[in-house]
Amino acid sequence: MSSSLLIRNVRPMGASPADVLVQDGCIAAIGAALSPPPGTVTEEGGGALLLPGLVEGHTHLDKTMWGMDWYRNEVGVNLTDKIENERAFRHESGHDAAAQSLVLAKAFLALGTTRLRTHVDVDTQAGLRHLEGTMQTRETLRDVQQIQIVAFPQSGLLGRPGTAELLDQSLAAGVDVLGGLDPCAIDGDPVRSLDVLFGIADRHQRPVDIHLHEPGAMAPSRST
Ligand SMILES: [Zn+2]
Repeated sequence: MSSSLLIRNVRPMGASPADVLVQDGCIAAIGAALSPPPGTVTEEGGGALLLPGLVEGHTHLDKTMWGMDWYRNEVGVNLTDKIENERAFRHESGHDAAAQSLVLAKAFLALGTTRLRTHVDVDTQAGLRHLEGTMQTRETLRDVQQIQIVAFPQSGLLGRPGTAELLDQSLAAGVDVLGGLDPCAIDGDPVRSLDVLFGIADRHQRPVDIHLHEPGAMAPSRST
């Protein structure tokens, strides 16, 4: 079914005020005092700036506590302290990644973000629970927001046996990208960590997006 929208009096990319006619999801005309076809919905832009949808390249929709009760986050200073604390809290509280990811994705949308990439925790305690919740949100908003999901081993890939298998299942279930985390600082064996990670990505022919918080030179020492 075709649809038309006329936005009057806006400034496309900061240009002079004009009308913009959108037909079937594409800009069909930009000009002064456009005459829309019958049945066109008209919106008054009030001279506002008109931009393409914004892109959020890195977020964690599944983790957010947006709109929930205040939580006092008492935790150690190390990254691993924060990771352990967060995983335990979400397990004990039954954190609802479906509901929370939807709330935050809608907040992004209300501010103009129409495309985003979210990293979603996959670990041996939560399994694919957070992932399934976020995939629900991706489906719910499919017509208005493009959500890319990264299966993210927040608790490490090698330290918790079974994580690699869960990542493999995630990609089979329709995740867009394979995530990774600090192959040296968290996994302690960067060569093996990256071999396992890229092996999974290669099997499913998916891109890789790795979080790196590793300071200084952390490459493995070599004797030869
Ligand atoms: Zn992140």
